[in-house]
Amino acid sequence: TYTMRTTTTHEHDKLHGGLLVEGFDEESCHSRYQSAMYRRNPGRQPSKYLISKLRRHEALQRRCGPGTVAYSDALEQLKSGKNATSTSSPECKYLVSLSYRGLGNRILAAASAFLYALLTDRVLLVDPSNEMDVLFCEPFPNTTWLLPPGFPLNIRSLYAPAPERYGKMRENGALRTDIAAATNGVDLPAAFAYIHLDFDHSEQDQLFFCNDDQRLLLSNFQWLVMRTDSYIVPGLFLVDTFQEELDMMFPERDTVFHHLGRYLFHPTNYVWGLVTRYYRAHMAWAQRRVGIQVRVFSWEPNSPELLERITRCTQEEGMLPRVVGNEEESPAVTTAATTTTTGRGGGVKSSAVLVTSLKAWYSEQMKVMYWENATEGGEVVMVSQPSHEEEQQSGIKSHEVKAWAEIYLLSLTDMLVTTGKSTFGYVAQGLAGVRPWVLLNNNQAASRPCSRDMSVEPCFHIAPVYDCKRRGDAGKVVPHVRRCEDVPTGLKLV
Ligand code: GDP
Repeated sequence: TYTMRTTTTHEHDKLHGGLLVEGFDEESCHSRYQSAMYRRNPGRQPSKYLISKLRRHEALQRRCGPGTVAYSDALEQLKSGKNATSTSSPECKYLVSLSYRGLGNRILAAASAFLYALLTDRVLLVDPSNEMDVLFCEPFPNTTWLLPPGFPLNIRSLYAPAPERYGKMRENGALRTDIAAATNGVDLPAAFAYIHLDFDHSEQDQLFFCNDDQRLLLSNFQWLVMRTDSYIVPGLFLVDTFQEELDMMFPERDTVFHHLGRYLFHPTNYVWGLVTRYYRAHMAWAQRRVGIQVRVFSWEPNSPELLERITRCTQEEGMLPRVVGNEEESPAVTTAATTTTTGRGGGVKSSAVLVTSLKAWYSEQMKVMYWENATEGGEVVMVSQPSHEEEQQSGIKSHEVKAWAEIYLLSLTDMLVTTGKSTFGYVAQGLAGVRPWVLLNNNQAASRPCSRDMSVEPCFHIAPVYDCKRRGDAGKVVPHVRRCEDVPTGLKLV
């Protein structure tokens, strides 16, 4: 296998400033300790507090995770159908995170569940379905984050009608925040609570983001099962009881996904092979790497307007050179050829453009444009696209591995252009630590083809509408949680 200058890589780079721990078997997951070598932008530094919190959480996952006595005891409680917390106060509490919809959605949901688990000292167990078990390496040392087979609940069937749904138990009065059931010996209605934060959640489901409800969940439920396909993190920043802890963990608030994503999501060896082979062939040699995510749907016709927006955005914002016509040969052509082979030609830049899309048309058009036309300054532009799957699928290994490799490759670029609203693009920008230029849609694009995102953080699409206390706008409660530009009802950290 190919190794990249391992000896010159400093330990702190390899561990992302202490985010990761030594001691994992390197062979079982090459990406974990190699990824830093592929990143030109080393990323932001995690706080000491976050690092210590992660180490304590890893210990919790080992102490309480699958295979331990505590885990078997907790499963017995769940099987009994009774709630344990009214009689005892268990040392280990659990959060099961369901995995569904597209890969970007699943990554954002797992990262959100992890932050909630960190804040509430719950063991995180991730539903292994939809290839979650084959795409990612184990993030926690000497234990597993995957929910083992034989779990007593049929979790995948949990949806809005479930009687254990938290919002429903609040709505019908089975749970009340003014009576703490556990301390009053009141029988709890369910052995676990099912948190439903899908697009059709109710106002009562949104109470999850309120202080009193968090207290109720903490003292009354050993088991929680969460269904969301969203990045609920900005909602957690609205909960008073979490604020101090979050401030200490993330003094730079716009780095939450950046750090948690780099901590949790390491491509497995098969995916890493796809990433590194592509990177070396199409990106490593370039002086500048530009990632362009063109999120289109199979039923949409190819759009010359969108192509025009991409071209204008990359050229007007200085990411790629302008084309200057095809009449004569650019005087810099010979120098450019030297540049690409030696990497140090007389000031002429080389750019690798990585396009990801379900369709091939956009990158083909760009390729033709940069072949048929000379560029300003003779800059060499090489456009490539790893795959064009045409149809969106999920749960199919050969499709999912490409999607993950492409998200990861986008995150290795120096500049990013993304399609608004897309969780696929959010994950790439977060892992990269790069604020993307977001392509504006037809209605928004009066004159500008794209606008720079206000932070690298993903947008929480189905965010709570109200502030819990005052029924004011949830986008105005704290200054660092704002409405998103691409999804005006969403919330994001800045
Ligand atoms: P979102 O729908 O844009 O928020 O992103 P998701 O990742 O959640 O879902 C879209 C899914 O469609 C991806 O997970 C892939 O399965 C597929 N897909 C969309 N765009 C691409 C692409 O550029 N490349 C590949 N390989 N798959 C894509």
